[in-house]
Amino acid sequence: MKNLYIDFDGVILDTLPPVYKLAKQLNLDVKTQTKEIGMLFSKIDWEELIEDSVDLNDSVNALSKLSESGKFNITILTHVNSLKEAKAKINFLDGITSDLTIIPVPSGVSKTKMTQTVGAILVDDFSGNLKEWEESGGTGVKFTKEKENDCKFINITSLEDLISIF
Ligand SMILES: [Mg+2]
Repeated sequence: MKNLYIDFDGVILDTLPPVYKLAKQLNLDVKTQTKEIGMLFSKIDWEELIEDSVDLNDSVNALSKLSESGKFNITILTHVNSLKEAKAKINFLDGITSDLTIIPVPSGVSKTKMTQTVGAILVDDFSGNLKEWEESGGTGVKFTKEKENDCKFINITSLEDLISIF
């Protein structure tokens, strides 16, 4: 079995658009005001946000299918800004498959510092995370809503694609 790490925001649930919309209303720039955005993330009601977010390309069902394939040890590796956020994500993931591991990563810490990376797959929507992962000996897979042209990584639009690729 291959070790498979899957990001949460932007891969399982489309949680970011509502946060960025709120940031815009508050006149915060997502790219430059990272400290303020971090504060915003930590203040958000994650239970509510998760309830309001849609799953991306049937990701919840795809997680079950990945598990049933028997090909992967699946871990959700997700950045969090607060313990409340971690708790809400753990509650959401509870019961999807019985063999899921969840690792909340403190914001500002590289995902590569939390686990073994060599030979492991990371699915993420953020290229920066994938770059670090590959530099640490892992395989990066970029999740996008639609196929991306000139993607430097293996590009998927559904988690189910992993079953045929690996
Ligand atoms: Mg993400």
